[in-house]
Amino acid sequence: MRPLRYARVTDVEGAVATVAADPDSAFLAGGTTEVDLIRLGVARPSTLVDINALPLADVDDLGAGLRIGALARMSDVARDPRVVARYPAVAEALLLGASEQLRTMASIGGNLCQRTRCPYFRDDVSPCNKREPGSGCAALDGISRGHAILGTSEHCIATHPSDMCVALAALDATVHVDGTAGARTIPFGLFHRLPGDTPHLETALQPDELITSVQVPPLTAAANSMYRKIRDRSSYAFALVSVAAAVATSDGLMTDVRIALGGVAHRPWRALEAERILRGAPANDSAFQHAAEAELAAARPAKDNGFKIELARRTIVSVLRELTERGSAQ
Ligand SMILES: Cc1cc2nc3c(=O)[nH]c(=O)nc-3n(C[C@H](O)[C@H](O)[C@H](O)COP(=O)(O)OP(=O)(O)OC[C@H]3O[C@@H](n4cnc5c(N)ncnc54)[C@H](O)[C@@H]3O)c2cc1C
Ligand code: SF4
Repeated sequence: MRPLRYARVTDVEGAVATVAADPDSAFLAGGTTEVDLIRLGVARPSTLVDINALPLADVDDLGAGLRIGALARMSDVARDPRVVARYPAVAEALLLGASEQLRTMASIGGNLCQRTRCPYFRDDVSPCNKREPGSGCAALDGISRGHAILGTSEHCIATHPSDMCVALAALDATVHVDGTAGARTIPFGLFHRLPGDTPHLETALQPDELITSVQVPPLTAAANSMYRKIRDRSSYAFALVSVAAAVATSDGLMTDVRIALGGVAHRPWRALEAERILRGAPANDSAFQHAAEAELAAARPAKDNGFKIELARRTIVSVLRELTERGSAQ
């Protein structure tokens, strides 16, 4: 039996101060990741700091983009008419994650900080550098079908499991955080880390930092965006590969294109090489294919997940085809 303290806070300053006072404590939002991991013995916080009473649950229209509070629930954000109309990829990604019951509990801030679904991380017995730095990586010689193909290291080949974060990465969101050193803004592409030799460090957050909101900027292409998730069954499963993309076209040329991949790396993978090739290019299958191949050229599959390379290529091409057809029909 391990004692676990519970503290309820009502303002951001109190939340930050409570966690800063005890480095072994953790924030508690919907609890759909944190409580799971405590039950499995993988997370062992001394205190759970319940942040649900903080005034961070609104979605605010800033004119220039939307600010989504860290405690807004996945189901509410997915159905917010402003998100649906202006950022469809975000709404679609949210609705393709977890189940309706979980989405009603789960918060946006917690979604960003959810942990990998690598089974060796969650079993609490296998060697795992993420759970226990220096212990090894059971996935390297184990079952690696769901693991990463891009940005891996010899220390960890886990993927980031979030769907919503893939859409936010494609749309250049920013993450607003507050901590004892003050408030700051983190570009989405810098929020999640690659494993390198410190796979236990997953985000740019300092231990005492609280996510207060996520901001999506005003992008013309965002209204013509989508999220496609490929998985083993059609609901209640994590992505093998997913693609979020946003495209603006003019006279048959792609004037703006943003692409991010899920299920393939330790963080949502922004497909910068594919974007570079496609910006200004004609909107046709050969351009899409060339860009997808260039992006996946750096892929280094493990024993069981080589199929993800072709799956990612095909998904990128089909998403771009659909978005450009839609864009030219408008
Ligand atoms: C069975 C199951 C299936 C799922 N399927 C999917 C799926 O298909 N796609 C998908 O994307 N997700 C899926 N999820 C994950 C789910 O989306 C996350 O568990 C959820 O978003 C976490 O939010 P929460 O509010 O419950 O976070 P919590 O569990 O409360 O917190 C998670 C982590 O974030 C930290 N945290 C929470 N809020 C903040 C904050 N504001 N600032 C700093 N740190 C914070 C906590 O300390 C904790 O470490 C699934 C989960 C389950 C249990
Ligand atoms: S892939 Fe990462 S999370 Fe999975 S066992 Fe290896 S070190 Fe742990």
